[in-house]
Amino acid sequence: MSLNLEQATSLIVERARQLVSQLVEDRGHDGPPFLSEEYARLQGIKRIEKGDLGEVSAILLKLHDGDVIRVNQNHNLARQNFSCAHEIGHVLLSELNLEPCIEEVEFRTFNPQSHAMARARAKERLCDAAAAELLMPEMVYKKYLSGLGLSISLVEWLANIFKVSIRAAAFRIAEVSVEPSIALVWRLQPGTKTKALGLSRRVGPGKEFRGKANYMPVHTLVRHTSTLHKAYQYDGPVKCHKLFRLDAGVKRLPVESKGFGRGETRHVISLAFPDR
Ligand SMILES: [Zn+2]
Repeated sequence: MSLNLEQATSLIVERARQLVSQLVEDRGHDGPPFLSEEYARLQGIKRIEKGDLGEVSAILLKLHDGDVIRVNQNHNLARQNFSCAHEIGHVLLSELNLEPCIEEVEFRTFNPQSHAMARARAKERLCDAAAAELLMPEMVYKKYLSGLGLSISLVEWLANIFKVSIRAAAFRIAEVSVEPSIALVWRLQPGTKTKALGLSRRVGPGKEFRGKANYMPVHTLVRHTSTLHKAYQYDGPVKCHKLFRLDAGVKRLPVESKGFGRGETRHVISLAFPDR
């Protein structure tokens, strides 16, 4: 059996959803936060250990008496929560025996090494998709979003409630919001004297907005003179417009941005709204 990434994603998310229902039934309510420790217990993982893992976020250890997750104690708790949930994603992936089935069109390459890398990347993306559903179950997250107009200030609020990183909370908004939205992460572009920002990640809008799925900013470099760059320099939210390309056309979309983190981890998160 061969699956593309989309089919594999819906299978693993479906499995994660079952685990969410099991947890909700277990504890008798569906209120956030959803912690990876709770899922680890349900999934029969023996324990979560904290340790110094250097650059690594977490690892899954298959010991003779059961699985153990070791997580990087130097990362903040929100990140640790996601890293552990990602490792639980690996457990679900092998449970479903999905790994041998992942065959994606983008793997069409004659270089076996890049093929293996693309497979590895796809696997990691599947585990991230499982982790997102475990920690921010779509139904519950949607409930928190409903009745509130989308804005960049929601991101921090949701991150606190769901005990996830700002980035993860923003991506999840873009994936599940009823109003289509796109989440963008900007980081300092290395080697630029004037501290230009480069686009490092783009997510959304969700799968029900297929026609809008390919909105890409026309300019993926933000100069220090641009309004969006103020979000990097100061902490307050910043509103501006940016040009996005969709198929053959270009559209000017309203964008809200905010800067997070300090020093090397400083980054800007933007939400863009195709329907406004
Ligand atoms: Zn992984």
